Amino acid sequence: MNTNKHNNPSQHIDEHVHHPENDSQYAGLQVNAGVEQPPMINPYLKRRRRPQLSVSDYVEGIRKGNTAVLGQAVTLVESLVPEHQVVAQEVIEKCLPFTGHSQRIGITGVPGAGKSTSIDVFGIHVLKRGGKLAVLAIDPSSERSKGSILGDKTRMERLAVHPKAFIRPSPSAGSLGGVARKTRETIVLCEAAGYDTIFVETVGVGQSETAVHSMVDYFLLIQLAGTGDELQGIKRGIMEMADGIVINKADGDNIDRANLAAAQFRNALHLFPLPPSGFLPEVMTYSGYYELGIDQVWDMIDRYFAHVRANGYFEEKRRQQEKYWMRATINEQLLARFYNDDDVQRLLEAKEQIVLGNQQSSFIAASEVLKFYYDKMK
Ligand code: GDP
Repeated sequence: MNTNKHNNPSQHIDEHVHHPENDSQYAGLQVNAGVEQPPMINPYLKRRRRPQLSVSDYVEGIRKGNTAVLGQAVTLVESLVPEHQVVAQEVIEKCLPFTGHSQRIGITGVPGAGKSTSIDVFGIHVLKRGGKLAVLAIDPSSERSKGSILGDKTRMERLAVHPKAFIRPSPSAGSLGGVARKTRETIVLCEAAGYDTIFVETVGVGQSETAVHSMVDYFLLIQLAGTGDELQGIKRGIMEMADGIVINKADGDNIDRANLAAAQFRNALHLFPLPPSGFLPEVMTYSGYYELGIDQVWDMIDRYFAHVRANGYFEEKRRQQEKYWMRATINEQLLARFYNDDDVQRLLEAKEQIVLGNQQSSFIAASEVLKFYYDKMK
């Protein structure tokens, strides 16, 4: 016999209504009273919300090298919520005086070139000298859900568990300009947190190299040998951007082919004019997997930094980059403001239909939309 007050039908219901089902003679199922609904809001349950940090909390945490706070600040930078952006910009501005003291190194290569394997090895090599390393990524081509894995911790086994390494995957998909800006702002936060080497990884297949090139001091191109025509498929522009080219997987019976590829790259580079750094890009072979030639690759990068620090190009390039980013930021914000305007959006949609219907030329339609926007801004 069920003695629970709520579940005992005879005590709870019978006083008011007689249910034949509850008669002692009844052989079928009994009707049980429902359970009383608890209040919708449980006063004893405290929702565990992440405490809202103030701008100075963020800055202080970052300056102390608190990686949890740094991670949260990066999330804020990546957020599309306008209020988050306001806080993020303030945090960045307060961090700016503490930045600029790192070596920023871009690393590119086609998928499978061995970027993550190499970054893991290069990273450990750099960390042996002391200091801290941040690994960031730019991959505007794919969303995280679709498997954008650049900068993913699981691909860098040793760095992932290294206390002095901070790894952050690419901001999720958006315009290249937007993704690149977020990565650049993340560099600012990382430098303020004391990371003195920054790797920015990108896939060597498209536009993202230009974005990475505009935020790093040194651009390393990872290539593979033994794929037939070595120079085929490498965009001239990417080669021109490279400050150093390394042929990975120079191990086993691939060593000869790697050396051959290196010779071909050296010859090809001689055809290009000397870059503004005044440093003829060097070409090296190495094996990320077997950790062969890592010291030599890093000596090459050190030689570059020594060279450009001595001739002033290091500072000059950073100044030029600042100028570039000022313009890039203006462009991005102008576009965002224009396209996020509800009236503009409505007019645009209407004009698109008009243009599709051949009722107006695209040029006139565009002029009218712009005029509408300029008038609205007056
Ligand atoms: P990513 O796509 O550029 O990041 O390339 P991964 O680092 O994921 O490497 C792609 C594949 O190449 C993996 O199977 C690696 O194990 C392999 N690999 C990477 N570096 C080397 C190397 O130096 N030698 C050899 N033989 N294989 C390598």
